[in-house]
Amino acid sequence: MSVLIGGGTGFVGRHLTKLLAENGLKVTVVSRAAGPNKITWSDLQRTGLPDGITAVVSMSGENILNPMKRWNESFKQAVWSSRVDCTQSLANAICQATNPPKVLVSMSGVGYYKPDPTAEYDEDSPGGDFDYLSELCTAWEAAAKLPSSVSCRQAIVRSGVVLGRDGGMIQQIYWPFFLGAGGRIGSGAQWFPWVHVADVAGIITHAIINDHVSGVLNAVAPEPATNAEFTKAFASAMWRPSIFPVPGFVMNTVYGPERGKVILEGQKVIPKKTLESGYKFAFPDLKSACQDVSQMLTIT
Ligand code: NDP
Repeated sequence: MSVLIGGGTGFVGRHLTKLLAENGLKVTVVSRAAGPNKITWSDLQRTGLPDGITAVVSMSGENILNPMKRWNESFKQAVWSSRVDCTQSLANAICQATNPPKVLVSMSGVGYYKPDPTAEYDEDSPGGDFDYLSELCTAWEAAAKLPSSVSCRQAIVRSGVVLGRDGGMIQQIYWPFFLGAGGRIGSGAQWFPWVHVADVAGIITHAIINDHVSGVLNAVAPEPATNAEFTKAFASAMWRPSIFPVPGFVMNTVYGPERGKVILEGQKVIPKKTLESGYKFAFPDLKSACQDVSQMLTIT
């Protein structure tokens, strides 16, 4: 099997590439920059899917929580286009292929579900229509929808906050916690839908290699946690205190209120269909995940 991954040079993509290689699958990445085992987005538009591709994964995306980028119309457009337009390009290439791949797996986010202190969401719950990020998820998932005339299985992976030592949120909070300056964000009572990076890569691989898997899969650990519970578990795994809460207004000042919501509000999300499809989580509980991501890990 040969897999094409749009956005596969990133944090999750590196873990996925390693896992696919361990399963004997060959990987080519679609990237903005040319290089070994890569094609560019213009190559894809010009010449279509490379020969022999049997699975396509869409996971490109401008980092929404980049504190160096101001949350303005031009950045929001880059966030949108890097997900929706790139996914659409992959879907178009599949539609035009003489031999379409067997499966398309596309990322989305739990921002699809409305933050709420009490509601519990599974893959069938409504959402996707109440703010910029939820509408982005709807458009992103729609871009991955292929016409029924194309014979290609489709899966959407709605991911929570991905925990891993070498990227994502942990990379941003590691040193403050290491220095004993970490703490809950806002009240800490908000849900924190988390998943270990090994499990996001695992769920995507599960969707690629198992013919019975299709539709939406929530990529969140089966043990839900609040922000305060995560903070306590992560600080404890690092043998550090967690006594310095970060007030909500600081997050709103750094990120802007529309983006600050991602951190200050959260959803309780359950991986119902993911578990029903037979996926076994490598890190189902917060304690084992925090112990793992608090180690000095490197990915080659
Ligand atoms: P990364 O931030 O590591 O980015 C993935 C890749 O996207 C990059 O390597 C880059 O590839 C490409 N990219 C970045 N900006 C642009 C742009 N403006 N236009 C086109 N391509 C761009 O993402 P992750 O690996 O953390 O996440 C993978 C996917 O999962 C993303 O779509 C993300 O939104 C989604 N997700 C991630 C979560 C997380 O906590 N990490 C949570 C929920 C969803 P290159 O430079 O080679 O072009």
